Amino acid sequence: MTLPTIAIVGRPNVGKSTIFNRIAGERISIVEDTPGVTRDRIYAQGEWLTRKFNIIDTGGIELSDEPFMTEIRAQAEIAMEEADVIVAVVDGETGITDADEAVAQILYRTDKPVILVVNKVDNPERRMEIFDFYSLGLGDPYPVSAVHGLGTGDLLDAIVKELPMIEEEDDEDVIKFSLIGRPNVGKSSLINAILGEERVIASPIAGTTRDAIDTHFTDETGQEFVMIDTAGMRKSGKIYENTEKYSVMRAMRAIDRSDIVLMVINAEEGIREYDKRIAGFAHEAGKGIIIVVNKWDTLDKDNKTMQQWEEDIRWEFKYLDYAPIMYVSAKTGQRLGKIPDKIKEISASQKLRITSSVLNDVIMDAVAINPTPTDKGKRLKIFYATQVAIQPPTFVVFVNEEELMHFSYMRFLENQIRKAFVFEGTPIHMIARKRK
Ligand code: GDP
Ligand code: GDP
Repeated sequence: MTLPTIAIVGRPNVGKSTIFNRIAGERISIVEDTPGVTRDRIYAQGEWLTRKFNIIDTGGIELSDEPFMTEIRAQAEIAMEEADVIVAVVDGETGITDADEAVAQILYRTDKPVILVVNKVDNPERRMEIFDFYSLGLGDPYPVSAVHGLGTGDLLDAIVKELPMIEEEDDEDVIKFSLIGRPNVGKSSLINAILGEERVIASPIAGTTRDAIDTHFTDETGQEFVMIDTAGMRKSGKIYENTEKYSVMRAMRAIDRSDIVLMVINAEEGIREYDKRIAGFAHEAGKGIIIVVNKWDTLDKDNKTMQQWEEDIRWEFKYLDYAPIMYVSAKTGQRLGKIPDKIKEISASQKLRITSSVLNDVIMDAVAINPTPTDKGKRLKIFYATQVAIQPPTFVVFVNEEELMHFSYMRFLENQIRKAFVFEGTPIHMIARKRK
């Protein structure tokens, strides 16, 4: 889903991450939290008055070896490139500094809406002092106290008013996917090799400005695909492009817009922390996932190599046991032809609907092999289950008491559902609900 994006800019210590957490914290969580998956606080989703948006804290994108002024200028440039609305934060306690002026100078170049926020206005007497900030030339200052939550409602009203309505041309039949991975794992080589296959026809469909950089193509069966552009695929030579945090942020944005994510791992390097964070984000977002081990040609292989890789991957990505693994080479073309077919299979799993009667047979059989848990003499009772959504498949299990449904039992039910039906490559959401 493509949502409008807000970016927060400003020099260090003005309170950007406090504001970010406050805005992202208003988010109504609809999926259950997955234990062990940490959320990255550079990029999140927010919601205010039914408008949903993405929010980026550019302060989290560090350029460690660059001078201070270069870093904050780069952050302002990222905001201008990525966002629909820019929130420029200054500190009401310290007043205007040279660094604030430098940020303002950069922001004069954008025609996107900029909202000036004076933070740390913790008590009403200070509200008079905010008029000094008109001299920044960024319009009316909005006084807030992010730590106390004062003024944030008015600020969000102002932000939401500026958010563009993005035309959703979500075509159900088109499969959107992205290749995610660290720099140099071979993402561009893979997409070029996939597009170079005879069975694939690249179509120069002119998208909206927003998705114009995405690649559209059709396979021999007429299935349409959109490959969503990510960082590192089109390098423009900006200083921040090779930083890990920027690449994480771009990856998260691409994942949000994708149905299916191809997690590309470099066989020469193995699995890295970055891969786990990004995969965790895709899993939590309910996206389809394929683990692609690229540069398979570089390994000295014997008959145990693939099995060893599989064991390592399953160990490192414990919650991704449903994700298929493909061992490929962009260089030799090995197994590349199978990628579009695998994407189609996963897309089918994401859209699979199970009728309630068949589902309940599976659930009742499951309960018969592994009786429901008890707690303090009380036993969990399962009345029935039903599928309430697809993409990802979401099941609600109606029970006597929600608290009696343990994570491990839910996991068992999920595994039984997976054994009975083909849900390859897709997370499944399981929700316990008290029967009224
Ligand atoms: P960032 O570097 O711009 O992301 O700033 P942080 O959000 O990390 O905040 C920097 C410091 O300012 C922290 O110690 C915060 O607790 C403090 N701070 C943030 N918002 C407020 C506020 O509204 N009032 C006051 N008094 N302090 C704040
Ligand atoms: P990206 O940064 O993830 O887009 O990676 P690139 O596609 O630019 O590839 C990085 C480097 O790895 C280039 O030098 C490629 O030629 C090389 N490369 C990519 N795929 C393969 C592969 O399957 N085998 C080998 N040996 N090299 C590869």
